[in-house]
This record gives sequence, structure tokens and C-alpha cells, in this order.
Amino acid sequence: MRIHHIGIAVESLRAAVPLFAKLLGRAPDAEETIEEQKVRVVAFALGESRIELLEATSPDSPIARFLSKRGQGIHHVALAVANVSATLAELERAGFRFIDREPRVGAGRERIAFLHPSSTAGVLIELVEEK
Ligand code: ZN
Repeated sequence: MRIHHIGIAVESLRAAVPLFAKLLGRAPDAEETIEEQKVRVVAFALGESRIELLEATSPDSPIARFLSKRGQGIHHVALAVANVSATLAELERAGFRFIDREPRVGAGRERIAFLHPSSTAGVLIELVEEK
């Protein structure tokens, strides 16, 4: 496994994108709205991984709920795996809990699934299937 990306919840992409562009010394690589998750994503590639800035597109977005509870900051860590279904089965046998029992489609049309943070030390972990 490797870190596929780190998701950071932000109040405003308009404020956060120039900040990260300055930090990383360049413009972002991709921008996408994921209607299903009510989130707008701006990604900066960073070696084998990337940083994703996440802005809510609606007050009932999971990102809006996270911001109201915990404020801006790291929302989730995504791990790249060869096969999400196989990894979910393996982790279920190992006693982990899930938000998604079945993979769904995420940013970049990849197959993803979220583990429940109650079984991963409070950190929301996303599995992303490598293409
Ligand atoms: Zn993610």
C-alpha cells in the first residue's frame, strides 16, 4: 500500500487553492465536482500521492458536517490498493468496520470505499483501487 491522497476539508477553495499553490510552487492539476458526495475537489499531484482540497457544494454535504464539527483540516487519508473488494473482505475478517461495505465510484472514476473511523483510531481511511 501507499498513500494515494490526503483529503483536506476547506471552507473555501477560493481561499485555499492560492494558499496551497503558493506552498507547493505551482497551479493545481485537476478540479472536479462529485455530485454524489456533494463535494468540489481541487487536486495537487505530489510525487506518488496528491493533496485534495475538499469544499462542500451543499449544507448537507459530509464536508459541511465535518467543518461544522471539527473545522478545517485533514478529513481523510486514502490508501491505494490493487482491488478494493478483495481488501474490504480481508479487512472485514481482520475486524475493521466500514462506511461502505461495497465499493463506489469516487473522484477520477476510481473504485473507492471508506472505513469507519471508529475502527481506525479516529482517522477516516479511504481505499482507492489503482487503475
Ligand atoms: Zn479521497
